[in-house]
Amino acid sequence: MQLLKERILKDGIVKPGNVLKVDSFLNHQMDIDLINEIGKEFKRIYQDAPITKILTIEASGIGIACIAAQYFHVPVVFAKKAQSINLDGEMYCTKVESFTHKKVYDVILSKKFLNADDHVLIIDDFLANGCALLGLIEIVKSSGAVLEGAGIVIEKGFQSGGDKLRSQGIRVESLAIIDSMTDQSLTFRE
Ligand code: 5GP
Repeated sequence: MQLLKERILKDGIVKPGNVLKVDSFLNHQMDIDLINEIGKEFKRIYQDAPITKILTIEASGIGIACIAAQYFHVPVVFAKKAQSINLDGEMYCTKVESFTHKKVYDVILSKKFLNADDHVLIIDDFLANGCALLGLIEIVKSSGAVLEGAGIVIEKGFQSGGDKLRSQGIRVESLAIIDSMTDQSLTFRE
C-alpha cells in the first residue's frame, strides 16, 4: 500500500532491537485518515471472504480493527492480556510473548464472543516473530471458528513470523512488508 509505505519512510523511526517506531501515526497518536485507507484496503483484499468477526489483541490492534470493521460491518472482539487468569471455563486462554516488552502474557477471550459459526479475520499492527498471531490463531482453533486469514499493517519480513504462518497454509496479507531496516535505510518488498 503506497500511502502507508510513504508514511513509514517519512515518519517511521528504527530503534535498536529491530523495533520500528510508528507511534506518530499508527499506534500511539493515530492518523485516522490513513487508518481509514488501511481499513478500506483490508476490505478490498478480503472482499470475497465471508467474515463475521474481526479479532485482534489489545492494545494497538483495537483502533485499527475498529476502523476496518466499519467496512466489514461486523463486530470486533479483542483478546485481553491478563496478569493472572481465573480458569473458570468461560474463557479461551493462551500465552503470548510480547515482542516489544519481552514478557509472556496470558491472553483471554470470552467464549461468548467467538464460536464455530464464525468466520474470523485477525487484524494487528505488526507481524514480527508471529507470537501474537499464533496466540490468536490458537484461540480461533479452540472456538471451532473458521480462520479466513490475517490482515497486518506492517510485516517485518526479515523476522520469522510471516514465513512460519504462510508455510502452515494461513492466509497472511500485509500492507507493507519491510525487507531490511537500519537507522540509515529501510527497504520494502515489492
Ligand atoms: P510478534 O508477536 O509477531 O513477534 O510481534 C507482534 C507484536 O509485537 C505486535 O502486536 C506489535 O504490537 C509488537 N511489535 C512487533 N514488532 C514491532 C515493531 O517493530 N514496532 C512496534 N511498534 N511494535 C512491534
